[in-house]
Amino acid sequence: MRKGKINVQTENIFPIIKKFLYSDHEIFLRELISNAVDATQKLKTLSSIGEFKGDLGDTRIEVKLDSKAKTLTISDKGIGMTADEVEKYINQIAFSSAEEWIDKVKSTGENNGIIGHFGLGFYSSFMVAKKVEIQTRSCQKGAKAVKWECEGNPEFEISEIKKKARGTDIILHIADDSTEFLEESRILALLKKYCKFLPVEILFGKETEYKTEKDEKGEDKQVPVEKDRIINNPKPAWTQKPADLKDEDYKSFYRELYPLTFEEPLFNIHLNVDYPFTLTGILYFPKVKQNFEAQRDKIQLYSNQVFVTDSVEGIVPDFLTLLHGVLDSPDIPLNVSRSFLQSDSNVKKISGHITKKVADKLEDLFKSNREDFEKKWDDIKIFIQYGMISDEKFKERAQKFCLLKNVDGNYFTFDEYKTHIKTNQTDKDKKVVHIYTSQKEEQHSFINAAKDRGFDVLLMETPIDSHFINMLESTLEDVSFVRVDADVVEKLINKDDELPSKLSDDQKDKLKPLVEKQLENQTFQVVFENLSETDQPMLITQPEFMRRMKDMSAMGGMSYMGNMPDTYNLVINTNHPTISKIIDEADEGNQSKIISQLIDLAMLSKNLLKGEKLTTFVKRSVDLI
Ligand code: ADP
Repeated sequence: MRKGKINVQTENIFPIIKKFLYSDHEIFLRELISNAVDATQKLKTLSSIGEFKGDLGDTRIEVKLDSKAKTLTISDKGIGMTADEVEKYINQIAFSSAEEWIDKVKSTGENNGIIGHFGLGFYSSFMVAKKVEIQTRSCQKGAKAVKWECEGNPEFEISEIKKKARGTDIILHIADDSTEFLEESRILALLKKYCKFLPVEILFGKETEYKTEKDEKGEDKQVPVEKDRIINNPKPAWTQKPADLKDEDYKSFYRELYPLTFEEPLFNIHLNVDYPFTLTGILYFPKVKQNFEAQRDKIQLYSNQVFVTDSVEGIVPDFLTLLHGVLDSPDIPLNVSRSFLQSDSNVKKISGHITKKVADKLEDLFKSNREDFEKKWDDIKIFIQYGMISDEKFKERAQKFCLLKNVDGNYFTFDEYKTHIKTNQTDKDKKVVHIYTSQKEEQHSFINAAKDRGFDVLLMETPIDSHFINMLESTLEDVSFVRVDADVVEKLINKDDELPSKLSDDQKDKLKPLVEKQLENQTFQVVFENLSETDQPMLITQPEFMRRMKDMSAMGGMSYMGNMPDTYNLVINTNHPTISKIIDEADEGNQSKIISQLIDLAMLSKNLLKGEKLTTFVKRSVDLI
């Protein structure tokens, strides 16, 4: 036996390890199992190049709990260590890397997010153990087994032991304040979290399976069979070649990732890059729900099949954080802060690559099966619009396949749509005016009026649509957007072909105050328009510019504008016979009744007539009949 002292520069590293990783204690298990996996993989490599000549045999890793002895043991059958190697790797290298890690954490003062996910290694076991034993036998021929012990202080002991099996057992004597790690359910949950896709099989405890057997009477009966519980799938879909996978394999991997999600994904993208960085993974396009915040943070980040985090902010472009799936890259620096991460050149390249792949896939789907693409459109629209707004490069690509949908449910690309409406909807300044509705039901009468005129109306009903419209106006040439209720239908597209007015200016001056009187305290702007006789006598419009300002201020973009009121115009159709009649009406009571009735009808078709006003309207209507 040999006693020794770990070469300590930091006064005592152990309390610091405990303190700094307080919230992240559980990662010790991932670190130790990663080491066991590495040791196993190294042995497999040695064997494949002929340097290890023995029988590989069973190479599974086993995790064992002993609640009486209060130990947690991780056993591998990997390369193991000789006494010299323990001295070198555990007393020197592992120790100095732990020390380096602590210096880093101390100097940045940061220990959130990805920081602390990697790098502490073997010594992280002292976060939860009061004593750690390593029992190991190297795979080298004739190597003697050794035991290393340390009680969470700089002193260690190393001695020869009898150990038949090749490989390493790490035995943690769990500390009194960490007894949660002696609970089977806790360990199982951790293994499921971090080790679900590690490349070497991991065993933990037993599970019961039921087998069908015949009983004495020859009838089927269920017999429980105990068997080793395997935690992981060592060959997850993303590590396989896309050519070897069928659609069903991708779907079943999706279910493996999200056992609680019943909805199937729409389609997937298999990433497979090895130059100039290594990146594998599968991204899925889910059906987007109303509440899409809840769908965020579903992408899991792995490093060589070891789970790292499910927060991929900064690695995946923001608009793609709604996707699901897995990314695996050893080239993403994991022990740096988020701000540093975003400036890392590999991370930038990876993010750009993912964006490109997503655009490729979408373009491919669009080209190969337009009908199917249209079917999926309503579900993928949000990604594409969000992407086009936030990412210049993606916008360029997406202009080819981004679709517009009209109220009749037809889909068009930007170019197709422009061609479709050009003849009818080009204004005097040569702008092609895109008319849209933000609420099909509420704006029904306006949509009808527009369609009667031979105009086409687009559906733009989601919150992101208003940003999207702004983006399109600044991107597409000679295109403007106007909401269907922004003006009377004749004025939606300014064509310079105005009808003459049947009312003289004197008559207008006479009528205006009468109408304003009936409007009482409603702040409508009274305006005259020369519409056709068959149009409504009065109607309410909401000018496009003011409405957009209000929408923007409501979205928080312009808080200095406060809570802007809605701005409406009350439009009087100078050519409607009823309007002429009002002017000629001798009875003042009748006159004001008709004016009120027309105002109310205009409000009604704009869905603005509510409460007491609605009651009054109904009463007055009955009287008039
Ligand atoms: P890292 O794994 O980052 O190198 P660790 O502190 O976790 O740092 O481990 C230090 C070294 O100890 C490893 O590089 C490896 O050589 C050795 N080691 C740790 N665990 C094992 C194991 N289970 N089997 C063989 N060698 C191991």
